[in-house]
Amino acid sequence: MRLLIVEDQVKMAEFLKKGLADAGYKVDSTGTASEAQSLCGSQSYDLILLDIGLPDISGLEIAKELRQNGFTKPILMLTAYSSVSDKVSGLDAGADDYITKPFAFDELLARVRALLRRQSPGASNNTLLKYFDIEMDLILRKVKRSGEPIILTTKEFGLLEYFIRNAEKPLTRSQIAQNVWDLQFDSDSNVIDVYINFLRKKIDVTPHKKLIQTVVGVGYIFKAPLEASP
Ligand code: CA
Repeated sequence: MRLLIVEDQVKMAEFLKKGLADAGYKVDSTGTASEAQSLCGSQSYDLILLDIGLPDISGLEIAKELRQNGFTKPILMLTAYSSVSDKVSGLDAGADDYITKPFAFDELLARVRALLRRQSPGASNNTLLKYFDIEMDLILRKVKRSGEPIILTTKEFGLLEYFIRNAEKPLTRSQIAQNVWDLQFDSDSNVIDVYINFLRKKIDVTPHKKLIQTVVGVGYIFKAPLEASP
């Protein structure tokens, strides 16, 4: 596994590089966006740690460009502020997750591991999706939770499929709108929240653990409680 760190603060970059190398990853690092772009052209990386505030081009711009150029591996954004708009912009630009500085290294490592685990080759061709105690058969269009069938409408099914494919990743309303409805997000519209409530009433009912969780100011995350087992 080879990771790229894009971070202009030398101390932070060295701290990350040492910690990740100690955890067994091959690590390259750079402090500029332009070098990051040329490294990505010559190396293949399994994950990129990307600072938003860079001296030449913003990390948000790089994330967008990487995605436009077909980079599909995880991008973990490092943000200096806990500002909600930064997080939302990062996710909308194509990042998979974000972590706010200052952070504990263990937390960063846990996020990196989770993002790398989610990369399962050929996952997009699977016709059976599973997460926690939910199973979706994409061919037969059937859903089960703990083995019990659940009847979903076409839109609810699409929403659940998108959640499972992006499990444990914070998702903004505009990402959900674009990916599930193929719509540009209209911030005055509450259509996403309405459908998420429909879906919650079908899958997240007692005694089941709640999987659809609200991320305040950002959107939603589909995630089992940490201590729970299916
Ligand atoms: Ca910076």
